[in-house]
Amino acid sequence: MPANGVGYEAQLEAMLEQIRAKGVNDERVLDAMRRTPRHLFVPESHRIYAYDDHALPIGAGQTISQPSLVAQMTQLLELTGREHVLEIGTGSGYQTAILRRLCAQLTTIERFPELTLRALRNLSLLELPPITFVVGDGTCGFPPYAPYDCILVTAGAPPKPPQPLLQQLRPDGGKLLLPLGPREYQLLTRLTKHGSRVRAKTFGECRFVPLVGKYGWQPSEVEGWRQDW
Ligand code: SAH
Repeated sequence: MPANGVGYEAQLEAMLEQIRAKGVNDERVLDAMRRTPRHLFVPESHRIYAYDDHALPIGAGQTISQPSLVAQMTQLLELTGREHVLEIGTGSGYQTAILRRLCAQLTTIERFPELTLRALRNLSLLELPPITFVVGDGTCGFPPYAPYDCILVTAGAPPKPPQPLLQQLRPDGGKLLLPLGPREYQLLTRLTKHGSRVRAKTFGECRFVPLVGKYGWQPSEVEGWRQDW
């Protein structure tokens, strides 16, 4: 695909087939991805790889997530279109766009202002309903709009999940989906809150850039960390 994206549709369809083969069959999720050209979220230097099923660098040492993982995570939220969602880790804005097509209200938090600015620019190329952008530490959640039906964390959290995120979930079935584990790999985990009880279900191994913040990894713990591609 040329860097200007001409002829991307066939590659996008092939990517969707690959995602289907990996077990994502929710047509609403696949359709949201079909309407969200990934090359718009990838820096020009890597645009030819935009429809490969890989994470790619987006600046500030961060990555746009692997599309099959974006699809799987979105499917696991089981969105109906009525939900109030909080996303932690705006990054390129790619997952943000897909979520926004499938929920009623979306707030997204990013710790690097430069990534939020770029995500705003990327998202302005699509026609989407309003999204609230927050620059800050997403491990603290965003209390002004709590409770949330769903919270999605797109960075790897340490084994103990950030407590503010559990507190800001709706108590009758609110879902927190996040990669939990050591720095090098995580288990994709869905925590469902029922009053004071939390039920956990895991969905296999994954590898994300670290969630850095007050209730995540400390900056000194992830120094020297880098993603291989
Ligand atoms: N969904 C994004 C994934 C980006 S990678 C995409 O597909 O493009 C994860 C993002 O989480 C990075 O941009 C990183 O800066 C951000 N992040 C890490 N810790 C964070 C925190 N405590 N609060 C908000 N964002 C955080």
